[in-house]
Amino acid sequence: MTTGIDVMEGKSCDSEQVLEQVRQICREVIEPEVEQVCAEGRYHESGIRALAQAGIFGVTIASQYGGLGLGSVESSRIIEEVSRVCPSTATMLSVHTSLTSYLIEQWAREDIRHKYLPRLATGEWIGAYSLTEPRSGSDAAGLGCRAERVEGGWRIEGTKNFVTSGDVADVLILFARTSESPSKPSRGISAFLVETGWEGFTAGKAETKMGLSASHCIETAYDGLLVPEENLLGEIDRGFGVAMAGLDGGRIGIASQALGIARSALDSMLDAVRSEPRLLASQEVEWALAESATAIEASRLLVRQAAEMRDQGVGHSRASSMAKFHSSRTANEVVRMAMSEVFESAGLVGTRIERIFRDARIVELYEGTSEIQKMVIARNLLREETE
Ligand SMILES: Cc1cc2nc3c(=O)[nH]c(=O)nc-3n(C[C@H](O)[C@H](O)[C@H](O)COP(=O)(O)OP(=O)(O)OC[C@H]3O[C@@H](n4cnc5c(N)ncnc54)[C@H](O)[C@@H]3O)c2cc1C
Repeated sequence: MTTGIDVMEGKSCDSEQVLEQVRQICREVIEPEVEQVCAEGRYHESGIRALAQAGIFGVTIASQYGGLGLGSVESSRIIEEVSRVCPSTATMLSVHTSLTSYLIEQWAREDIRHKYLPRLATGEWIGAYSLTEPRSGSDAAGLGCRAERVEGGWRIEGTKNFVTSGDVADVLILFARTSESPSKPSRGISAFLVETGWEGFTAGKAETKMGLSASHCIETAYDGLLVPEENLLGEIDRGFGVAMAGLDGGRIGIASQALGIARSALDSMLDAVRSEPRLLASQEVEWALAESATAIEASRLLVRQAAEMRDQGVGHSRASSMAKFHSSRTANEVVRMAMSEVFESAGLVGTRIERIFRDARIVELYEGTSEIQKMVIARNLLREETE
């Protein structure tokens, strides 16, 4: 099915070849097992391995560190394709590339980049991002995990939850409080690169989620873990900016994931209508197809615009939030239309559309809920007007 405007026209054939390889992996490796791994709540190991072998875990990492050196537009298209078949695997990939690897490449010392990025580029090591705590989700600046200065580095104490891939990650970006700043809590947070194999790190239980069952969300604890001096990312006490810079890119990844989910719901509707033409007797079905395809293309334009702005080094916080807000709403709308207009047995557990329905909910929640995206959009608008 072709639902989209190809905004990649004119890109080098290398990136097209990479995308074609991803489509092939999706078709031949990921799709055949996706319902089973989701039902059993385990990672799609063969899919992850195939993507890693194709270099996809290093899609945006510069070639000097062993990556493919492609941009956000290409990364977005890849996340969309993977999400079309397995949104859970796309979550792991998006966190690994747009949060962990990106933040290391942007904020770590050169020797640290050389130490970690090559292993992240090949997928030998998996990356995670750890901002959320039991008492601070949307209010990320209120986090309480502590980093105390000790000789040669920092000692970490605290707990974090909702860590995507926290049970399999080898490295993660941890945000912890390094000083008190009651009048401005976002000051006083620092970003650290942590190896999960270090003493003092514990990966606890996985959350029982309604969707994304082939991706795990883990509670973690830090009990005196020592982070060496050189693993600080950016400046001390300025880690909140690092966290937000990551999310500006991460939101393009989640918006792309939402696009892929919407497309899979539309694909399912088209397949159903083609095999049961009697469904077209109802004009609601025709309208559902038209409204879904239109909403997907509108979302895709927002997503590609945000990705292009990122690639051009232009401020894109508002664009990323608009893309995520619109695409995640689209994903949920398209799945809802598919369930109500096309699939008579959609409410039954175990159908493909039921799994897509459960996977769709999350895109309106993580990396900032839709309410938080609206705050970011409005505040940027107000700032832009006064500048
Ligand atoms: C599957 C999954 C994977 C995740 N992966 C990660 C990860 O890898 N790393 C990580 O750090 N975190 C991760 N998260 C955490 C995620 O980012 C948070 O769940 C999210 O930011 C919301 O925080 P919360 O759940 O504490 O909800 P809350 O912040 O308590 O929000 C509850 C409700 O209140 C609304 N709300 C809150 N504040 C405001 C406000 N100021 N104005 C209006 N409405 C408001 C919210 O929109 C929401 O509807 C993940 C979450 C899930 C579910």
